[in-house]
Amino acid sequence: MVFLANFLFCLHGFWHCNNYHSYHTFLSLTAVSVSNHAALAQFCRDQEIRLVVVGPEVPLAAGIVDDLTAAGVRCFGPTAKAAQLESSKSFTKSFLDRHGIPTAKWKSFTDPKAACSFINSANFPALVVKASGLAAGKGVIVASNKEEACKAVNEIMQDKTFGTAGETVVVEELLEGEEVSCLCFTDGVTIAPMPPAQDHKRLKDGDEGPNTGGMGAYSPAPQISKDLLLKIRETVLQKTVDGMRKEGVPYLGVLYAGLMLTKDGPKVLEFNCRFGDPECQVILPLLKSDLYEVMQAVINKKLSSSMPVWFEDSAAVTVVMASEGYPGTYPKGLEITGLSKAKELGLEVFHAGTALKDGKVVTNGGRVLTVTAIKEDLMTALQEANKGVAAINFKGAIYRKDIGYRAIAFLSQSRGLTYKN
Ligand code: AMP
Repeated sequence: MVFLANFLFCLHGFWHCNNYHSYHTFLSLTAVSVSNHAALAQFCRDQEIRLVVVGPEVPLAAGIVDDLTAAGVRCFGPTAKAAQLESSKSFTKSFLDRHGIPTAKWKSFTDPKAACSFINSANFPALVVKASGLAAGKGVIVASNKEEACKAVNEIMQDKTFGTAGETVVVEELLEGEEVSCLCFTDGVTIAPMPPAQDHKRLKDGDEGPNTGGMGAYSPAPQISKDLLLKIRETVLQKTVDGMRKEGVPYLGVLYAGLMLTKDGPKVLEFNCRFGDPECQVILPLLKSDLYEVMQAVINKKLSSSMPVWFEDSAAVTVVMASEGYPGTYPKGLEITGLSKAKELGLEVFHAGTALKDGKVVTNGGRVLTVTAIKEDLMTALQEANKGVAAINFKGAIYRKDIGYRAIAFLSQSRGLTYKN
């Protein structure tokens, strides 16, 4: 699916989507290399593909939208220049400062010695070291002291842990607060916001253990009040779209802002130039408007208040089931059972690391699948998603049992209740 894409997904021929289940008509391209843009354009023309939706960040940074568009193939996503909002943290930090968009205090370096001497003289209580380029979500090190921060700089710049992505590093102050994701569709002028979501990056319950690609998510995130949401949309999302346009680099596609809600207000941690995963598995199921039409409106620069983008007034929760050993090494080829049971419960199961072997569905990756429930409220959605997870089995499956706990704690507190895990 487009949500978990490490591949490029296409809408084939004339495709019309009135509901979420029609997403299954996305086709994955296995015969053509994603990095061969000329061959891909030819493939799209031969197959009369009318719309290409780019899932991951690497092809966006490599200019797939530029090349396919130039070849006459309609492609949803930002150009390589606009995708710098994700592919270059130093570009983004300068951009944010130029436009007065709140973010952590920072400095970027191309010389490790200069970075370390800054770290040693910096007056921040704690520091975060980031490879400026794309590092598959692994290029951020939250250091607990200056020594650790310098070690991270040396690993990134001298040992080249992240290759060329670490030629420039960004050193910034550590922000504290609740982390949320606010996304919108944009045609370069108008934004159509999506409901806010919260991801759970740590492997284990209670936000313990190593960082992962995300172990679950929910939307909407009730911790964000209506006023705060409006503020974020105006002062972060709209301001970013306006700033990019004014700088001659119009941004079209999905803009994802990762934010820290600090005591001084929301601050930008990062941008993604695409749907995040697993946020996408909870946001798009809530979409009531026709996704195909929304994407066409983005490409045609026709998003406007006369064509609002609607979302259901419900809650969605997704729980990731991962292989034993993830995010390290893990086995593959283990049979997955109970998928039809989850379907009977009315749940949506999104496959990420699965494969078909001898007619059976087997594990084939770290994060194997996610189970999404859409219900009238968060608590019910959570219970249903957990029922789905309990119905699905594969040897050594790992998953979090506390997805949504911050939201439930928040809701319980506002109602004077106590939350029991
Ligand atoms: P990034 O790719 O920049 O969003 O970083 C990945 C993750 O690192 C974020 O989702 C945060 O959990 C954490 N992070 C990044 N920057 C900071 C910061 N300045 N303060 C605290 N945590 C951060």
